[in-house]
Amino acid sequence: MESVGAVIVGIVTVQLLVLLCGQVQQSRRSSQQRQLSFDLLQQRIDAANALRVRREQTQLLWNGNRKFVVQHKVEEAESICSFYLVPHDGKELPQFRPGQYLTFRVNVPGQAKPVTRCYSLSDGPDPKYYRITVKRVPPPRDSPDAPPGLISNHFLDNVQESDILDVQAPRGHFALDPNQTRPVVLIGGGVGITPVLSMLAAIVNCKAERDVWLFYGVRNRHDHALQEQIDELNQQHDRTRIVVCYSQPLAEDTRGPDYEFAERISVSLMKRVLDSNNYDFYICGPPAMMTNVLADLKEWGVPDNRVFSEAFGPASGKAVGASKKEKPAAKEGTTAKAGPKVTFERAGVSLEWDDSFENLLDCALDKNVSIDFGCRAGSCGSCLVAIKSGKVANAAGAETEHEEGTCLACVSVPDGELVLDA
Ligand SMILES: Cc1cc2nc3c(=O)[nH]c(=O)nc-3n(C[C@H](O)[C@H](O)[C@H](O)COP(=O)(O)OP(=O)(O)OC[C@H]3O[C@@H](n4cnc5c(N)ncnc54)[C@H](O)[C@@H]3O)c2cc1C
Repeated sequence: MESVGAVIVGIVTVQLLVLLCGQVQQSRRSSQQRQLSFDLLQQRIDAANALRVRREQTQLLWNGNRKFVVQHKVEEAESICSFYLVPHDGKELPQFRPGQYLTFRVNVPGQAKPVTRCYSLSDGPDPKYYRITVKRVPPPRDSPDAPPGLISNHFLDNVQESDILDVQAPRGHFALDPNQTRPVVLIGGGVGITPVLSMLAAIVNCKAERDVWLFYGVRNRHDHALQEQIDELNQQHDRTRIVVCYSQPLAEDTRGPDYEFAERISVSLMKRVLDSNNYDFYICGPPAMMTNVLADLKEWGVPDNRVFSEAFGPASGKAVGASKKEKPAAKEGTTAKAGPKVTFERAGVSLEWDDSFENLLDCALDKNVSIDFGCRAGSCGSCLVAIKSGKVANAAGAETEHEEGTCLACVSVPDGELVLDA
């Protein structure tokens, strides 16, 4: 009897235990489910908030030029100055995506028309001001008698605190989302530090849980701008690592406090210091550095969609017609094939396109057709022209998306017969 009783107690105990386990499991499952629903809800709220902020910011953006006052002018290094700009109307300042730039229309004494140039926003988004950092551009080494860079020198020599400037709204696709968590490598060569410093500041300010490397290359202390801010940002974010390279250190430059590597920024250096190539790469710098680094990142196996770059454009004050290439000679016994007919309608100029022109802007300037221009890199939008008939293609090396019915003359070539409203 006793043993039957024990068996019954055992069976009941086992049943109770099974029931209990089932309930524990069910309660664990529903708690996991609750957590998942909560996370999903949180993600939706974050996405909706981000969309709302983007919409509000877009509404604050302005068309054309807006007046800005130079609040502070700060010398950052030899021949490099920052300008802190606040809206003259005192109204709200739309935020920008770190990496974007401002376009200026500048009246320079002696110039018949305002001149357009772009300068990257060089600090993280701040509701109080925009900041740009401008480097003085000297004449090219092979033409020492050429006039020095028009607008950079004007900014450094003539633009003073309390001056008023005409500024277009922030623009540009070379921009980083500071809230993402993918590890990132920022690369700034010379004054190309400006957009990537804005990215670094934005990541640090939003306390993103993200590994960030900043490679900053300059010749030596004379070009080494904004180091104090970079050091401060580094101290505020323990997942940031700064690598400063001097390509031509001076006797008074000290390894350690001033710079870490006495060499140019290269992918071979990155292979030595990074644990892998598993990063997003954002690059801005002089053409030679960009060409080498971009090619070597590809060879290192970094996918194209992980690499973002911005060129500050060719010398924007290129002499008119200076970029006209040698006309390719026709093969012996043949005549050169004429290109499609291009018409600048308002100027009453028609010609047969030849491939010695790099783009429609150079062609127009060569034929004395007046088209405004600024960056000559497809960025500033100054050379936007309406297409009356025909189509354009991207000029060699350009990756611009054209709005229907218009083209940016500095990065376009005709794709068949073309009539432009210019
Ligand atoms: C998106 C973007 C962002 C940028 N951000 C920055 C930034 O943050 N900071 C910055 O400093 N720059 C930046 N730039 C570059 C800037 O826009 C200008 O291109 C730069 O300041 C030079 O302009 P400039 O008017 O001084 O020179 P330009 O007058 O355009 O002259 C350029 C060069 O051409 C030479 N030159 C002029 N005339 C002749 C001639 N007849 N024959 C031979 N050579 C001649 C000049 O001596 C100079 O070396 C950016 C550019 C872009 C497109």
